[in-house]
Amino acid sequence: GPMVGIENVDMRYGGADGTLAVSGLTMSVEKGQFAAVVGPSGCGKSTLMKLVTGLYIPQTGTVSVAGERVSEPVSMVGMAFQNPTMLPWRTTLDNILLPLEIVAKHRRRIRTHRKEYVEKAEHLLETVGLKGFGSKFPWQLSGGMQQRASLCRALIHEPELLMLDEPFGALDAFTREELWCVIRDLHFSTDVTVVLVTHDLREAVFLADRIFVMSARPGKIITEREVHFPRPRD
Ligand code: ADP
Ligand code: ADP
Repeated sequence: GPMVGIENVDMRYGGADGTLAVSGLTMSVEKGQFAAVVGPSGCGKSTLMKLVTGLYIPQTGTVSVAGERVSEPVSMVGMAFQNPTMLPWRTTLDNILLPLEIVAKHRRRIRTHRKEYVEKAEHLLETVGLKGFGSKFPWQLSGGMQQRASLCRALIHEPELLMLDEPFGALDAFTREELWCVIRDLHFSTDVTVVLVTHDLREAVFLADRIFVMSARPGKIITEREVHFPRPRD
């Protein structure tokens, strides 16, 4: 089955007569795919992210991840947002290890296998061009560097699914395109399934295998397209 399955979902904020944010939302992302969801501001992209990660449960329809119906926050999903929000009193390395301390399954392992995880975090830091920066505090890093570190944090527990909500939005054009290459290489080398929501169609075309287009009021998928033309990785 698909990695992400959304079927006929209605999501209303604030009770029965609140805002209908998405309606009749249906989409499916296959394992290993890089999917991008594009659409204007307010069309429900963030709502879609919150539904897949289980932060909200829809009133109507079903959301499933890896064949399991989502009924509570999902811990197997890696997440990165526009705002990296690292804890300022922890080093970059300890920020990257944070998801391991939150997921009970990993908590025991990190106590006994800390060295192994530190090595993994250092390897990830190297992959995103931050070799040697693990001991710095987040506030000692530039915005672009913090965003790279937040990608490492999203990947430390080897999630099957990586959800990215406008992760490059706050960056300057150069840093953004540099990070596009980083994330594309990560997807290529790990085969993690990625769902990226963005309002930047150029970004979607550069990165994704499949593009879902949303319309607003209420949000729903209006079309989806395979991206066929050869890209640099081919
Ligand atoms: P996007 O991420 O595409 O900008 P959102 O998912 O944030 O869109 O919002 C979709 C719709 O739901 C918008 O009309 C927005 O105003 C509304 N909305 C989002 N979050 C809330 C909330 N917590 N309470 C009420 N309405 C919300
Ligand atoms: P970015 O392009 O990632 O936003 P900046 O334009 O702020 O970064 O900085 C450009 C480069 O300067 C970075 O890619 C990095 O190599 C270096 N740099 C920035 N902040 C630091 C720091 N705190 N320590 C060491 N090098 C840094």
